[in-house]
Amino acid sequence: METLSTGPKKNIIVIGGSLSGLMHAILFKRHGHNVHILEAASSARASHAAGITARDDVLEYMRLYDLTEEPWYINSPDTQFINKSGARIRGFKKVLCMTSWSVLYHRLRANFDGLESVFVKNVPGKVENEGRAIFEGGVRVADVVDVGKEVEVRVRDEHGSEERTMRADLVIAADGSNSFIRHKMLPEIQTKYSGYVAFRGCVPQNAVSEKTLATFIDKLTIFKGSNPKSYILLYNIPDDAKGNLTPGSQLLNYVWYWNVPQSELPNLMTDIHGHTHRNMLPIGLIRPEIWDVQLAHARSLLPPPFIEVIEKTTQPFVALVNEHMSTRASFFDSKMLLVGDALSLFRPHVALSTNQAARHCLGLKKVMDGEMSLRAWEGDALRYAKATGLLSVVVGNFGQNGIGKLILSVVRYLICIVGQKISWLWRKN
Ligand SMILES: Cc1cc2nc3c(=O)[nH]c(=O)nc-3n(C[C@H](O)[C@H](O)[C@H](O)COP(=O)(O)OP(=O)(O)OC[C@H]3O[C@@H](n4cnc5c(N)ncnc54)[C@H](O)[C@@H]3O)c2cc1C
Repeated sequence: METLSTGPKKNIIVIGGSLSGLMHAILFKRHGHNVHILEAASSARASHAAGITARDDVLEYMRLYDLTEEPWYINSPDTQFINKSGARIRGFKKVLCMTSWSVLYHRLRANFDGLESVFVKNVPGKVENEGRAIFEGGVRVADVVDVGKEVEVRVRDEHGSEERTMRADLVIAADGSNSFIRHKMLPEIQTKYSGYVAFRGCVPQNAVSEKTLATFIDKLTIFKGSNPKSYILLYNIPDDAKGNLTPGSQLLNYVWYWNVPQSELPNLMTDIHGHTHRNMLPIGLIRPEIWDVQLAHARSLLPPPFIEVIEKTTQPFVALVNEHMSTRASFFDSKMLLVGDALSLFRPHVALSTNQAARHCLGLKKVMDGEMSLRAWEGDALRYAKATGLLSVVVGNFGQNGIGKLILSVVRYLICIVGQKISWLWRKN
C-alpha cells in the first residue's frame, strides 16, 4: 500500500457500495486505479429518507471529486431552540449544509460508474487516465484471505449459493456498521446499544401549515424535554424523489431520540409482518399500535409545530442508536483497510459519520500523493474515531441521561483530547 503513490495501476476491490464505499471508489478511480465495488444489495438501496449534514471533509471531498457541478445541498443558516409552546428561546447563526442519503448516493454513483438518475442532470464523462469502474450489486463477500501479494476475496451471489473468488492488490472494507470484515479481523470489538432509539421521518414542506413551516424553514430546530429525558431536532433536506432543493419542495426531516430499555427492543423492532429487526425498522414497517403510543407521547410532550409534523408522518422508521470503535484500520500488511461506519460508528447527534468516510478518503489521497504514510493515516483515523465517538456520547448523555453519566462522559472526552494533544506534541518533537 505504501507503493500506491508509485508503480502500476492497482486492482482494488471495495466491499460495500454505500456512501463510504463509493467515496473511496471514486478516489482510487480518479487516481488511475481499477476499482470493483461488490455490494450485497441487488438494486440501489431503497431510500431511508435520511438527512445528512455535510460537514467540512464531505464538502472538501465533493469539491475535489464531484464533477457534476450541480448543487447538492441546502444552506441552513440558523440553529434555534424552541420551548414547549413553540417559541424560539435562543439560537445562533452558523451555516450548515443539509442534504440526504439519496442525493449524495446518486451524485456519487454518477461520478463513479456514470449511473443516470433523476437526481443528476450532468453525468460526468470519462476522465483521462482514470481507472476502470465496476459496480456489481447482488453479491455478498463471504471471506477475505491474505495470499501474499494479494488478497483473495470470496464472493457469493445474493441467494448465498454460487461462490467465486477474486483477487485484489488492495481491499477497502466499507461494509457498514455490521461489518463482516470487522467481525472477522477484530472479533473483540462489540457493537453497544446506547439505551435509546431514534424515531425518524420526513414530511413535505407543503403538507404543513404556514405557521409550522415558518417555525422550521431555513433552520435546524431543537426541542429538549426534561421528563422523560428526550430531545427532537428537525432540519430541511432535498425532496427524496428527485433531490429538488427549492424551498417549498423540500422535506422536513426529524430525528426524535427516545429511551427504550434493551428488554423492550424486541417488541419495538418487530414489524407488521412479525419479523424482528436488529438495528433498523425500515420505512413503512412500524406496527400501528407502536406508532399510536409514540403519537400520544408527541401530543403530550412536544411543541405544536413538532406535533403537526409527527402527526403528518406517513412513513416513520426507527433506528437503534448503537456505537462501536475499532482499534485497528489496516490489516493483511496494509492490503486491506477498514473505513467508514465499518471502522467506527458514532452516535448520530454529532452528524459526523459521513464526514468520517470523507476524512478517510482525504487522508488516503495524501498517502497516494506521497504526503502521508499509511501508518499515519491509520493513526489519524483511529484518533478521529475515538475523539468523535466520545463526543457523540457526551451529546447523547446530555440529551437522554442524567447529570452523573454526562459528567463521566465529559471527563472521558477531555482525557482523550488532552491525551491526543500530548501525543501530538510528542510526535512533533
Ligand atoms: C437511516 C440512516 C440515517 C442516517 N443519518 C445520518 C445522518 O443524519 N448524518 C450522517 O452523517 N450519517 C447518517 N447516517 C449514516 C450514514 O448514512 C453513513 O455514515 C454513511 O452512509 C457511511 O456509511 P457506510 O457506507 O460506511 O456504511 P453503510 O451505509 O451501512 O453501507 C454499507 C454497505 O455495505 C454493504 N455490505 C454489507 N456487508 C456486505 C458484504 N459482506 N458484501 C457486500 N456488501 C456488503 C451493505 O449492503 C451497504 O450497502 C445514517 C444512516 C442510516 C442507515
